[in-house]
Amino acid sequence: MKLPLTVHPEIGPPDTDSPWHLVFASRLPDVCAKHGRDAVEHRDQQLTFYRTRRGGRQVNALRLILRLLTIWQLSLLPRIDPDIVVHAQWPVCPACLAPARVYRAVGTALIALAALNVVALLLMTAAYIRPPSWLALAIFPGWIPFGLLVIMFLFRSGETFVLARISPDLREADIVSHPRFDQAVAGELAE
Ligand SMILES: [Zn+2]
Repeated sequence: MKLPLTVHPEIGPPDTDSPWHLVFASRLPDVCAKHGRDAVEHRDQQLTFYRTRRGGRQVNALRLILRLLTIWQLSLLPRIDPDIVVHAQWPVCPACLAPARVYRAVGTALIALAALNVVALLLMTAAYIRPPSWLALAIFPGWIPFGLLVIMFLFRSGETFVLARISPDLREADIVSHPRFDQAVAGELAE
C-alpha cells in the first residue's frame, strides 16, 4: 500500500547531513497494517531508513552491521543514524504488541549476561586471577559494540510494527500491509 509522505511540519527540511523527518500526509486508519485487525490504540512510532539509490530502506540488523563495517573500513567516525525518520501515530492491535514483550525480555537477559561478564572479570582481577583472554574479548569487541547494537536493535524491533520502503523522491512510503488496512485507507471498510 502506497501512502503519501510530507516533511514533518515542526522539524522542516534538514540541513546537510542530518536526517529527513517525514510524516504521513493523512491520519492512519484504525486498522493495523500487519494483521488487518481493529486497532486498540495508535502508538507514537519512528520508522527509520537508510537512503539508497532505490529509495529509503528500513534500518534492520543486517543494514546496521553493514553500515558499521563500511564505516570501519573507511575509518570514519561512526555515523549509524538513519537518513530518514518517519514519525507516525501507528495503529496497533493486541497481536502487534505481543512480540514487543518477547524482544524486551531477550534484550534484558542480554544486558544481565553482559553485566555478569563484567562482574566475573572484576572479581578475577580483584583476586589476582588472570582472567582467560576470551572473557576480556567477550567484553570488547564482543559486548561493545556488537552486543549493545543487538540489544538496541531488539528493543527497537519490539516497537517496529510495520515494514516499509520509501520512494527515492521521499514522497511515498510503500507499506507491507493487510488488505483490510488498504480498504480502511481507501475508506471502503464498512463501519
Ligand atoms: Zn496487528
